[in-house]
Amino acid sequence: MRIHNVLPAAALSDTGREYRASEPGVPLRCCLRKSLPDEPVWLFRYSPSNGKGPYAEVGPIFTHVDCPDSPSLDRLPVELLNNPRILRSYNAAGQIHDGEVVEPGSFDRVIEGLFDDPAVESVQVRSLSHGCFFFGVTRA
Ligand SMILES: [Zn+2]
Repeated sequence: MRIHNVLPAAALSDTGREYRASEPGVPLRCCLRKSLPDEPVWLFRYSPSNGKGPYAEVGPIFTHVDCPDSPSLDRLPVELLNNPRILRSYNAAGQIHDGEVVEPGSFDRVIEGLFDDPAVESVQVRSLSHGCFFFGVTRA
């Protein structure tokens, strides 16, 4: 599978973005880990590319202002998968195909199972409690 993160430059397209000099413990969509104290971050509105038309959603995400890391994009980021998550699959037209709640330890198996369906083009991983977009997944 291929992981799709969000680069900090995406924040620049949201004029309402907020700068936080230190916001420890928030999930960073750039390097796919939790933030540390004194790491400057952006909080901004973001629309994942999976959903199109009426399925295009906008929600709040965090990235670093200057990301110091290059995450591995060929495997799931374990630091953001220590809680149950929503997996939402999309078809090629950008419509929601299916959705389910997945527990830690099952993500690889469930995502690979979703991609067994040829109608599924991509998957979004989201927070269960807040619904926020974490990252996207496609076939490798
Ligand atoms: Zn980062």
